[in-house]
Parts: sequence; C-alpha cells; structure tokens
Amino acid sequence: MGHHLDGKSSIVPLIDRLNKYPVGLPDSDKLRRILAILFTEDEAYIASRFPLTEATLPELVRATGWDSVRLQATLDTMADKGLVMDTAYGGKTFYLLMPGLIGFFEFSFMKQRQDLPVAELAQLMHEYLYGDPEQKMGREFFASKTPLTRSLPYEEHIPVSSQVATYESAREIVKRAGYGAIGMCYCRHKKEHLNDICKKGAPTKEICISLGTAAKFMVRRGFAEYRTTEQLLAVLDKARELRLTHITDNIRHKPSFICNCCSCCCELLGGVQQGFPMGVAKTNYTLQIDGESCLGCGLCQKACNVTALEAVAAENGKRKKRMTVLPDHCLGCGACIGACPSKSLSLIPASRPEIPEKKKDLFKAILKEKKRLTPFVLHGIKKKILRSIRMG
Ligand code: SF4
Ligand code: SF4
Ligand code: SF4
Repeated sequence: MGHHLDGKSSIVPLIDRLNKYPVGLPDSDKLRRILAILFTEDEAYIASRFPLTEATLPELVRATGWDSVRLQATLDTMADKGLVMDTAYGGKTFYLLMPGLIGFFEFSFMKQRQDLPVAELAQLMHEYLYGDPEQKMGREFFASKTPLTRSLPYEEHIPVSSQVATYESAREIVKRAGYGAIGMCYCRHKKEHLNDICKKGAPTKEICISLGTAAKFMVRRGFAEYRTTEQLLAVLDKARELRLTHITDNIRHKPSFICNCCSCCCELLGGVQQGFPMGVAKTNYTLQIDGESCLGCGLCQKACNVTALEAVAAENGKRKKRMTVLPDHCLGCGACIGACPSKSLSLIPASRPEIPEKKKDLFKAILKEKKRLTPFVLHGIKKKILRSIRMG
C-alpha cells in the first residue's frame, strides 16, 4: 500500500475505525481517494475517533478533544452528508458513524450533490467495487455465512398451502413500519454518472423505500421524502410491474429499507452474479419449472435479476429449448413468474437458514464469523462501568 495520496492524515485511522464494523472497507489507494473526497480532514478525524456504538455529544467531546460548539456544527454537516446518523430519543441526541456499505457510499448518491465531483466519485467507486481482481470488497460484503441483506418473495406467487410470516411479506413490512419514505436508487444514480442506464427501464428516482427510524433521519436530512403507506405499497406494485427483486435487511424485526433491484445496476445483485450466489439471503421459496409446458421462449431468463435460469436442449416436442433453474443462484423472489406465457413457473417452499431477529443479532453473527466481536464486547463493558461511575 502506497502512502495516502491526498495529504489527509486521518484517512488511515478512519479506515481502521470503519474496519471494526461487521462490513468494513478493505484498504486500497482507490478507497483512500474516495474517502478523501467524501470527508474533510476534520470530518475524517472526528469519524476516526467515533466509539463503536452510538454516542452523545459529551461522549464525543471526550473522544475527540474538541469543544462542543465546534463539534456539534461539524456533526451537523456530517449528518447532512450522510457520514453520521443523528437520532433523538429520551431527550438526548445520539450520533452513529455510518459504515461505508450499506452507509455513506449509498448516501453520497441519494441526493443531488453540488459539493462533490460526482462523476469522478462514481468512477472511483465502480473501480473500487468491481476493478479488484482479488475481489476484496466483494468478499468483505458477501462472503460471510450470514448475509447482510435478504430477498423477499412476491406475495401473489407464494403457494396457497404456505403460511406466510409477516417478515416475509414486503407489503406487511411496509404496513407495520409506522413511518416510511421514498428516495433515489444509489446504484442507478451512480450508473447514470457512468453514462449508463437501467436495461429494465427502472427509475432512478422515487424507487428505494426506507422505513422507521432510518426513514425519519433520511427525510430530515434530505435523502428521502415522506410517503404514506398506500403510496409505498404503490411503489412495490410498480417494482413488480418492472419485475424488480425486493431486497431488505436480513432481519425479522423492523427492517429499515426495501430496495427494488435490477440485474444490471444493483450492486447487491451484481455481487450475487459475480461469484457470491449466497451473498444475498434467499427467500423461503425457490422456483419450480414445469418442463413439459415450458415453450423455451426465454422470457423468464430475461426477467430474472440474478441469471438463475439456464436454457437446455429440449428432449422432445417442437421446441428446441427448455428452461432449467440453478437452485444455488435462485433467490426465490418470483420476479420471473409473471413473464411466462405458459404459466410454467411457480414458487415452492425451500429450507433456509434462520433469519436473525434484530439488527444487533445480525451484526453480532457477522462480527463473530469475522472474529471482530471482542472489541464490541469490551466497549460494552467499558460503557457500563463509566455509566455506573458517573451515577455514583
Ligand atoms: S440495492 Fe437495488 S434498489 Fe437499492 S440502491 Fe442498489 S439497485 Fe437501487
Ligand atoms: S429465477 Fe429465481 S431469482 Fe430469478 S427471478 Fe425467478 S425466482 Fe427470482
Ligand atoms: S417464460 Fe415460461 S415458457 Fe418461456 S422459457 Fe421461461 S418457463 Fe419456459
């Protein structure tokens, strides 16, 4: 690794800090250039001093050595840029350093930014994510046993004999969230700056759904706009018309987003197609094809967002081909089913690993798998001791 190119001395400590998260950002010259664009030197310093969990202003004053007025102003700017998330509860404001992915990489393309060289940033991010022959970022994001995200099935294609749990239904997740917002698709927006567009005609604007506390933060900081439940359900309908795959947090309790993803732009589905078929958790279903009625037309293959369908020579009949499914690749999302003219496709139940209950369970599982849990445990103990000392 060469020396940091941009003269910001806090970039390396910032990378070290980010790499304590369940999904970090493997170091490279490209990453250093990206961070030097997104963070000022002061912001990189503040971020590098962030505790592992959310912190109050007085805690951050202690961690940084800055005075509270200057620090508060910098944290405000960082929240506007999506570098930290500020949340108020119990009469206090808590600040959390955002991870890179899913985090400030996305936020940097979720509103129009005049302060960033967006075309250069899009190119750098693309090279960072896709140009590494060792796929370091791909492995960091997709190769843990417990994936960070999961796909959701189109409810209308779930077999009637199946009991549909509420956490499996995009519509129920939206209805139960209590608050929701709509925003720009980071992947498609970034792609536009690389002079490319979505081959499915999926929109860049008003397509990514955020929910609950995350949505409130995003609305407050201009990354998304509030929408009613009915309006968000209509977005799901539109996504299904375009045969997009719904993706959410790999948790049961209060997922914070539902992305509506295509094969060509989506970085999550891109990872699945580029060597990490288990990188997005599958639904509790998989695709079944009726080989007898299949016409071999290929329309389902065109609709599939993860290249999980393969044409093989047909053994009999007038058709030359018939379609088969690659079970290791199929997410069980159901996006292809409506494309079939002969109604040869259906979802059938499949056995899958347990989905973590809450975000803290998901993060704990990934941290454990990556052997990064100890610093979090020690941080938790330290926080408890400090709190009891302060309370006398
Ligand atoms: S994950 Fe999918 S919907 Fe979300 S930002 Fe990327 S392409 Fe858009
Ligand atoms: S083949 Fe599987 S992953 Fe592809 S669209 Fe159909 S259900 Fe989804
Ligand atoms: S869309 Fe239907 S008929 Fe056409 S190849 Fe796929 S399964 Fe066969």
